[in-house]
Amino acid sequence: MATPTPEELFAPVAHDLSACGRTSRLVERSPDGGGPRLWRQLVVDSVPVGYLEFDVDLDTDVQVEIIAGHAQDAVLENLPSLTDSRAWPACRPGHAHPMRLVPAAALDSDSGPRWVCPADPSFRVPVGGHPGPLPQA
Ligand SMILES: [Zn+2]
Repeated sequence: MATPTPEELFAPVAHDLSACGRTSRLVERSPDGGGPRLWRQLVVDSVPVGYLEFDVDLDTDVQVEIIAGHAQDAVLENLPSLTDSRAWPACRPGHAHPMRLVPAAALDSDSGPRWVCPADPSFRVPVGGHPGPLPQA
């Protein structure tokens, strides 16, 4: 299998941002002092929120998990600058907290990392499969 590109690895995270009403794109740019590894600047809702580092030697699930975690940190740290200040990824209706990233290894899952409700661990969605904010019950 060909080595996935940063854009391919980011696709599940882009899906979950889009599902929650946010736009995102990657810019080919590295931070000052960025080494020979692959870097991309993450732009969410037209705001540059930080840099993501890609390590093509790692397993794809592990890379997606790392990227999802760093993207979440970058979005949450920059919420005051974003037009939509809701936590990301959105949890159940009435839950103001963001969903928590849980690695596949912690879930005995063969299907990749998950977003999990910190209050009700039975509520979980795959990274890349966020259904969008659920309607109020
Ligand atoms: Zn929740």
